[in-house]
Amino acid sequence: HDLRNEDLKDIRELGQGNGGSVKKVEHLPTGTIMAKKIVLIDAKPSVRKQILRELQIMHDCHSDYIISFYGAFISDPNICICMEYMDKGSLDGIYKKIGPIDIDVVGKVALAVLEGLTYLYDVHRIIHRVMGTDIKPSNILFNSKGQIKICDFGVSGELINSIADTFVGTSTYMSPERIQGAQYTVKSDVWSLGISLIELALGRFPFADSESDDSDLSDFEGTLSPSRPNPLSLQKAKEQRDKKKKRKSKGVSLQGGGMTMSILELLQHIVNEPAPRLTPEGRFPKEAEDFVDSCLLKDPDARKTPKDLLKHPWIEHARSSTFDLEAWASTF
Ligand code: ATP
Ligand code: MG
Repeated sequence: HDLRNEDLKDIRELGQGNGGSVKKVEHLPTGTIMAKKIVLIDAKPSVRKQILRELQIMHDCHSDYIISFYGAFISDPNICICMEYMDKGSLDGIYKKIGPIDIDVVGKVALAVLEGLTYLYDVHRIIHRVMGTDIKPSNILFNSKGQIKICDFGVSGELINSIADTFVGTSTYMSPERIQGAQYTVKSDVWSLGISLIELALGRFPFADSESDDSDLSDFEGTLSPSRPNPLSLQKAKEQRDKKKKRKSKGVSLQGGGMTMSILELLQHIVNEPAPRLTPEGRFPKEAEDFVDSCLLKDPDARKTPKDLLKHPWIEHARSSTFDLEAWASTF
């Protein structure tokens, strides 16, 4: 049956991103708990209808590694997308709460994301790109059954365009080739996965400056707009700068140039410097180090596809591992 906004009761807000906000809601006629993503779209009615049509493909996405879709509707001036509610939230929230994630769990995350991407790509020719966002910890969700699923993938080209119109997005999870203007491919998702895995294993965004605490660039993860910065990010940037003034800085820094410069510096760093790695050496299994290195090959031609990476020894190990994610979920 068709979803209607009148049938959804707000329970609480789950979070806000650059594309909109997400609320936990109850579908009153059935008692189903859902996550409702509200995306403000400044577009003509015909474009909105096109977006809704394109979103319908999500009804055909059935995978253990992909968030289930209940339906989407227009609630002027927004588009609402209703999806499966994941009661343990996203992995960024989890590591910010409990600290660095156990490498066995990180292996399971890698496996789930590769499976999800391979499914979307092979079955539906969808590349993980929505609203200009990438694979990143906030788009990898976890529940108390121990399931790991990805959300926010690019099913609607029109939706991506409409959001891109209002928000020129640049993400710090973006691969070097995309920063340099190359077309988005499934290899870009592999880069973003590599960055995300390091972030989870270390408990901090990998491009943060090594001398200082972990808050440095972590507030900048996600979508940023160098040309039209959003006020919230600017406010955060200012707070970071004020904090930073009290410390010596080195490497990638927010000091000096204001937000726009610092983001450009970070993007330049991604393009010009060696890719981050799972460090210090010896802290993590060799296979994990090797997997991350192969995700973060700077040359996209040398980087493997998600399907090929499913055969990597670390991923095979994660697949056969008896690590109990459900038990792990009950610890926080
Ligand atoms: P961006 O806008 O750059 O994608 P984001 O992913 O943080 O950033 P949203 O996609 O709007 O922003 O999501 C906001 C937050 O809502 C997420 O960080 C996540 O914690 C939570 N969330 C999203 N979808 C669900 C869901 N299906 N179940 C539970 N929590 C969710
Ligand atoms: Mg998201």
